[in-house]
Amino acid sequence: KTFSELGLAEPLQRALSAKNYDTPTPIQAQAIPPLLEGRDLCGIAQTGTGKTAAFALPSLDYLFQNPVSRLGKSCRMLVLSPTRELASQIAENMLGYAKYMTLSITTVFGGVPIGKQKRRLQDGVDVLVATPGRLIDLIEQKALRLDGVEIFVLDEADQMLDLGFIHALKRIEKMLPEERQSLFFSATMPKNIENLAKGFLHEPVKVAV
Ligand code: AMP
Repeated sequence: KTFSELGLAEPLQRALSAKNYDTPTPIQAQAIPPLLEGRDLCGIAQTGTGKTAAFALPSLDYLFQNPVSRLGKSCRMLVLSPTRELASQIAENMLGYAKYMTLSITTVFGGVPIGKQKRRLQDGVDVLVATPGRLIDLIEQKALRLDGVEIFVLDEADQMLDLGFIHALKRIEKMLPEERQSLFFSATMPKNIENLAKGFLHEPVKVAV
């Protein structure tokens, strides 16, 4: 199947053409159709497989097709990433895929002053890419609420655990609305990560590449 046969919104198709992407990678081919139907997904995939577009394209399609008026200090899609480098890369890729849409996409991570990040969240954003520690700081400082999250993505779960984010992830999960679409990615899926995934996902489609 080509990208145009997946039925993505026109501005996404245009962005993909501009990047000269015509064929979905295996994870994209497996993940995009169930994600467009609103299913949860558990993916075993490494960086370099096209994982970012696999979760970004159907999510951007949904946000574009279902616009809502801003709620303030909230986000519609939350992507959690273990490091600032990965978070920046994801946000940059998503901005590229969304370049013919008017969605707001921003990233927050630790190690930099929090003030500017708070101001960027003031009016709410469509997509927030965040590292767990800074996300919790922003919530505690009342700069962000998670009750408007419709799509939740946990990327690189194995790295998250290696970096000691287990407690932060569980706290964040408790603040998310029950009704949401959740996506969970990890390069490996040992028992402890599978158990973590179970806490986030509802009848997920499983994909391994
Ligand atoms: P990721 O695994 O998401 O980090 O993506 C790896 C690289 O592949 C990134 O540089 C993407 O821009 C690129 N990429 C993703 N999907 C495709 C595709 N279907 N065709 C060509 N390149 C792609």
